[in-house]
Amino acid sequence: MALTSSATGVAWDLSDLFASYDDPTLSAMLNEGAAEAEAFAQTYRGTINVPDGPDPEFLRTALERQEALQDQFAKPMVYAMLLFSADTSKPEYRNLQQQVEQQMTAIRNQLLFFDLEWLEVSDEDAQRLIDHPTLATYRHYLASARRYRPHTLSEAEEQIVNEKDVTGISAWQRLFAELTASLSFPITLDGEEQILPLDGVLTLMRHTDRAVREQAFKTLYSVLEDQAQTLAYIYNTLMQDQLTMDRLRAYPDPMASRHLANEVEPEVVATMMDVVEQNYPIAQRYFALKARLLNLPLLQLYDQYAPIGEVKAHMPYADARSIVLEAFGVFDPSFRDAAALFFDNHWIDAEMRPGKRGGAFCMGYPPSNHPYVLCNYTDDIRDVMTVAHELGHGIHFWLARKQTLFNFGPSLPLAETASVFGEMLTFEHLLEREQDQDEKLALVCGKIEDIFATVFRQNVLTRFEQAAFAGRNENRLTPEQLGERWLEANRRYYGDKIEMTDGYALGWSYIPHFINSPFYCYSYVFGELLVLALYGMYREQGKDFVPRYVALLEAGGSQAPGELLAALGIDTNDPQFWQLGFNELRRLVDWAEELAG
Ligand SMILES: [Zn+2]
Repeated sequence: MALTSSATGVAWDLSDLFASYDDPTLSAMLNEGAAEAEAFAQTYRGTINVPDGPDPEFLRTALERQEALQDQFAKPMVYAMLLFSADTSKPEYRNLQQQVEQQMTAIRNQLLFFDLEWLEVSDEDAQRLIDHPTLATYRHYLASARRYRPHTLSEAEEQIVNEKDVTGISAWQRLFAELTASLSFPITLDGEEQILPLDGVLTLMRHTDRAVREQAFKTLYSVLEDQAQTLAYIYNTLMQDQLTMDRLRAYPDPMASRHLANEVEPEVVATMMDVVEQNYPIAQRYFALKARLLNLPLLQLYDQYAPIGEVKAHMPYADARSIVLEAFGVFDPSFRDAAALFFDNHWIDAEMRPGKRGGAFCMGYPPSNHPYVLCNYTDDIRDVMTVAHELGHGIHFWLARKQTLFNFGPSLPLAETASVFGEMLTFEHLLEREQDQDEKLALVCGKIEDIFATVFRQNVLTRFEQAAFAGRNENRLTPEQLGERWLEANRRYYGDKIEMTDGYALGWSYIPHFINSPFYCYSYVFGELLVLALYGMYREQGKDFVPRYVALLEAGGSQAPGELLAALGIDTNDPQFWQLGFNELRRLVDWAEELAG
């Protein structure tokens, strides 16, 4: 890959944190922090888990001191992480990061007693403190810290679980990772045989040439076929481990621990998933359109990611900047101004450099400093969306910085709200600027397919997991039994619009989420539908929506997601709310049909 693009020279300035990796203030800050942590432990150990619970004023001071302490450590930690991300080849940056991490671990262990003592406080005393006006700022923090209490084992048991996990679930997860990474897929491209890894063969599913896609599909499943017994065994073992742990930890069903982590009610997820299924016909309508656009009587599975038309290849960084600023400005001038701060003050590292890490992220921690954005700008139009996505995060952090450190970070279901909303604003703006009908169609189809991948597809994956766990309760499932459940979940989505071939029965077998984070996939559905619904509310309410949305972002993680959304008049228990997102999706599919003529 060529390392020059129009973003060459666009590097961030980290001097708001420290002057350099050997800046004496950095080590001084770490040393002061270590001393303060020591003093904190001496003052507070044994004072939280006391009869009738601690005095509210006393507890509040302790929380404030902890926040200050974490802020003190956050700056060196974030600085070391940013330096290393920008140049992973420098040993001095790697050393700094290791050194800071080691010190952080030591401090964390020193402060651990505090959370444990808080868990030990009786429910009655804890509730009184949570509801106390003196502790109003920390209400959500204190309450959510206790949510694992009924599911936590004794300290000795937890230690045994941790140690046994190394040769238990972690070992099975590693085996899965090593096995899938070792697979090789022979593919003939332009008359030459190549051996591709799993990612390589999956990428070919988006190839413009149908014969290449078909070959990639068939090769994928014939190679997986040889591993089917082992992959099924790994998945069965992990499911059984979770069922056992759920029993020991008193979780009522296999999804319960995920709901608790997400701070989402099980009923909300059930309602959401039902609404997604009721909207599968929107997908099937689009698949019929796609077959027409590709001149095919019926789509095969390997056609579903085939590109439609071509999107303009070249997008200079300066244009990305003005497009994103204009798009945010249409929404509200304050959004444009906030995003402009990132460009004007060198908070963005966009150029490609040897040694720089790949991908993109926004680091917004701690709230006492401004956020930074890293991306690798290649001049591709997709990079504009990446910039919009990361600046969406950036604005979220920027607006939430008035929260205290414990209340700052949005909880998981809201973590991608501002980023995906920022993409949506930019997508609509790009479309408006585009005059060419074919390019417009390509853009709309690209957006529709992205939404399908995060909404419909993830719902199918979650339905499969539910069916697999339901079957695993009784027996170990054979690859064929897992395959039946997989095909059934997919059939409901594809209907008669995409033909499902035999090999696809192993479609479940290489998906890392099933192995590493069961039931995580519904979080993507939640996040995307929420943004689509918010966008629909924005189009309906116009400027009135802006202050409500700003308030949502400003609240950071100070309340549970359901409470924050209730302030916008959203009831996540109401199927009508989830339907709002599909109204937006239907609008896009209508649009694609219209553009296709
Ligand atoms: Zn993101």
